[in-house]
Amino acid sequence: MFSVLEKAKKMKVRITHVTEKRIYFEVVSTSGNVYIVSIGKDGEFACDCKHFSLYPDKLCSHVIAAILFLSKKI
Ligand SMILES: [Zn+2]
Repeated sequence: MFSVLEKAKKMKVRITHVTEKRIYFEVVSTSGNVYIVSIGKDGEFACDCKHFSLYPDKLCSHVIAAILFLSKKI
């Protein structure tokens, strides 16, 4: 868990757009891959990485990076 956090902290995150129900992020992983993450205001989240498609109910490091980014903004 902590190594995932360390990884997430190193990722570059930016908000691409915001809708009434969701916030969309572009997350650049430590290996340089770009992932599209979205977080719903109802607490739902999604990522287009392989890990997320295999384990959709587990937070991947990209979603964690987006949450960390948001928590700094609020
Ligand atoms: Zn992911």
